[in-house]
Amino acid sequence: MATLSSAAPAPASVPASAPADLTADLTADLTADLTADVVVVGGGPVGENVAQYAIEGTDLTAIIVEGELLGGECSYYACMPSKALLRPLAVAGAAAHLPGIGTPAVDREELLARRDTWVSHYDDSGQVEWAEGAGLQVVRGHGRIVGEREVLVEAGGTGGSTRLRARRAVVLATGSQAVIPAPLRELLPWTSRDATGVREVPGELVIVGGGVVAVEAATWMAALGAQITLLVRGTSLLPGFEPFAGKHVLDALREVGVTVELGTSVLGGERDGAAETGLGRIHGGRVTLQVEDARGRREVGADEVLAATGRRPRLSDVGLETIGLTAEDVTGAEAPVSDDATGAPLPEWLHAVGDASGEAPLTHWGKYRARVIGQAIRAGATGETLEPVPESVPVPQVVFTDPQVTSVGLTEAAAREAGHDVVTSQVPFGGAAGSALLRDDVTGTAQLVIDRATRTLVGTTFVGPDASELIHAATIAIVGQVPVHVLRHAVPSYPAASELWLRLLEELPRELRQGQGSDRLEKP
Ligand SMILES: Cc1cc2nc3c(=O)[nH]c(=O)nc-3n(C[C@H](O)[C@H](O)[C@H](O)COP(=O)(O)OP(=O)(O)OC[C@H]3O[C@@H](n4cnc5c(N)ncnc54)[C@H](O)[C@@H]3O)c2cc1C
Repeated sequence: MATLSSAAPAPASVPASAPADLTADLTADLTADLTADVVVVGGGPVGENVAQYAIEGTDLTAIIVEGELLGGECSYYACMPSKALLRPLAVAGAAAHLPGIGTPAVDREELLARRDTWVSHYDDSGQVEWAEGAGLQVVRGHGRIVGEREVLVEAGGTGGSTRLRARRAVVLATGSQAVIPAPLRELLPWTSRDATGVREVPGELVIVGGGVVAVEAATWMAALGAQITLLVRGTSLLPGFEPFAGKHVLDALREVGVTVELGTSVLGGERDGAAETGLGRIHGGRVTLQVEDARGRREVGADEVLAATGRRPRLSDVGLETIGLTAEDVTGAEAPVSDDATGAPLPEWLHAVGDASGEAPLTHWGKYRARVIGQAIRAGATGETLEPVPESVPVPQVVFTDPQVTSVGLTEAAAREAGHDVVTSQVPFGGAAGSALLRDDVTGTAQLVIDRATRTLVGTTFVGPDASELIHAATIAIVGQVPVHVLRHAVPSYPAASELWLRLLEELPRELRQGQGSDRLEKP
């Protein structure tokens, strides 16, 4: 039986400042030792999942090391607060275009209060309770690898340090951090944490970036009353999605008064009295940015600037150098989905998962990989047989703008680049009775990308109201490799938005819609 090797039974959560009841000899200046089967550094959604799956149903033990709040970026500063803010706005947007009900007004204080509820007022005791219930031990502090299967946790202040030894595996689930470009650093710009944790709404807000965080933040900050200017270096929004997705979101943002400047780079900026005023508060005096576009150089002023300029895996301070590895060894490890480890350069006891791995920086993807890797660690310990995992699994994603953007698998361009001979089918999002009924100003597009040779779906994109609810059917079709002539027999209800599937399949060439040879479902 595998058990923790500390002298006394340890509590599930070891507080940073007062680890008194962990062991009698753990004091501020001494290093305590704990051993478990699995040590997970980083207690975000992914770290929690990998720890849970690694020990589930066994007597294996796992420790999660967390430096901030158990639950991670997603729970307190990213997915949860952003969607808590955006959902009421989506409902208001639909209601505003549904004759028969009054136009709802946004109540700023109520909206922020809803956000605070969804982030549990930045209190992670509920998550700690969950971890305890799942048999996981939480050690508070900053963890870094100090040798093979060894992690040192420094709690900071007078909290002392704890040396953790993993019998089987160490998992890096340290997430990612915002990248702030050099010209903005001195200005102490907002990051996505401030945007999701907004307390003071700037009169004028410049958002630098054109990706998911930028367009979602523009949506809720505009609704909260900020005058938004989006400065986008590229020539479109939402790179990586089908081009029509960025175009729909661009039109919609401009429609609600957001200024979007494409092809615009920030060269530098000034700000008086830049100061760390706290989460979601304006970080000092007015900002002046020097920007450049095809017309030349000019200045853009604002009360605050939000750097929505990407994220990088948080690997710089986790002690990789102590075992002769670099961050690139971890993120370049090209994880085959079916593998239990993250790739060749990592020792067999070390894994990286979630944003830290460099894979798709999405909670659901990280949690999926955490289940796969967690089960593999468990199987390594117990000898249980692992279910085979598909070689390739598509990544779904939703952008919660108005209209929503959702996609899974490959875009048409990416599919061609990957060597697929593809056929696409495209219809307006309002092209079915059910989707047209959603609201009276339906805009958007639905598209399937089909591999001609296999007659299966390789990618799907929907842009439209509540589009997020349509994508999982595509995910199932791709994972199940369901040929389109079989998909035709999946009958959507009338009048529901899923009837768009019928329209999309009807648009395909006849030879693709019908089975061939032994594939045929219909009697001749
Ligand atoms: C504004 C915004 C909105 C988003 N919305 C969505 C969404 O709607 N849907 C979606 O799927 N994804 C969304 N994402 C992405 C999502 O937040 C991440 O993919 C997800 O949080 C990754 O989970 P993780 O567990 O890998 O990392 P994180 O959630 O970042 O958690 C990592 C944890 O590790 C801790 N940690 C780091 N280093 C150490 C260390 N050395 N020692 C101890 N602890 C450490 C951190 O404190 C943190 O708690 C959004 C991101 C942003 C920025």
